[in-house]
Amino acid sequence: MIHAEHLRHVYKSSSGDKVALDDVSFTIKAGEFVAIIGTNGSGKSTLAKHFNALLLPTDGKIFVNGLDTAQEENLWHVREKVGMVFQNPDSEIVAAIVEDDVAFGLENLGIAPDKIRERVDLALDAVNMTDYKKFAPSKLSGGQKQRIAIAGVIAMQTKIIVLDEPTAMLDPQGRREVLELVKRLHAQGKTIIYITHFMEEAANAQRVFVMESGRIIRDGTPREIFTDVKEMKRLGLDVPVAVEIAERLRRKGFKLPQKILTPEELADALKNL
Ligand code: ADP
Ligand code: MG
Repeated sequence: MIHAEHLRHVYKSSSGDKVALDDVSFTIKAGEFVAIIGTNGSGKSTLAKHFNALLLPTDGKIFVNGLDTAQEENLWHVREKVGMVFQNPDSEIVAAIVEDDVAFGLENLGIAPDKIRERVDLALDAVNMTDYKKFAPSKLSGGQKQRIAIAGVIAMQTKIIVLDEPTAMLDPQGRREVLELVKRLHAQGKTIIYITHFMEEAANAQRVFVMESGRIIRDGTPREIFTDVKEMKRLGLDVPVAVEIAERLRRKGFKLPQKILTPEELADALKNL
């Protein structure tokens, strides 16, 4: 469980203070799949970095499984519970061979070599990259690199996985691979926090946070959030393509139900006309 109370983050610099998180409160239950959306600069990455104490609150508190991230003695336990995956796969790869890269975090924990090998093999299998274990990461596609980065997190056996725009630099095929993998990890019981600017991806979550100017201004199901087309447009955000098409058809006079979210629902609604 993750619990934030009046979280505030201010970046201090010579050119002035920047409030990046402003009074953010929420609870995320174990096993939930939460997507976070919002325009550039709304505070998504700043929030992500609070989940594993890469950043500490300027004010307010965030607890990971009851542990206050700001207490230094909790740092190791917090990092053990929360794995992070970032946007740029190239900056996350640290080793010259895939299996060494996946093992990197474990070596830092001082785990026995045979245990490391076992966990690395399981993690590579989980992301369907076993055949590539002796490859140089530089030979892989962006999507494969992100799956390797995710394998590193799987090997650490963290219960919570935070992904900050993991598909932003990938082609459509790579994006599909990563999303399918994330859905599988959620089905296996991991808590997923998934930051994205692809609304189709966010629609797969159970719950969506919408951020604006350092605040969470909406918290609801994908259906609640995305079918409010007016509000999404006001925020400068897209809606999933089925929502957009349904809205345009309604404007042309077609009598479609209000809460269409997926292509299947749109197809069914059209068939019923
Ligand atoms: P997002 O991920 O939603 O694009 P960020 O969390 O990266 O938003 O940024 C939130 C705000 O904080 C932005 O206005 C950004 O310019 C500012 N910001 C982010 N990182 C820093 C930093 N290291 N120093 C100063 N300001 C920052
Ligand atoms: Mg960001």
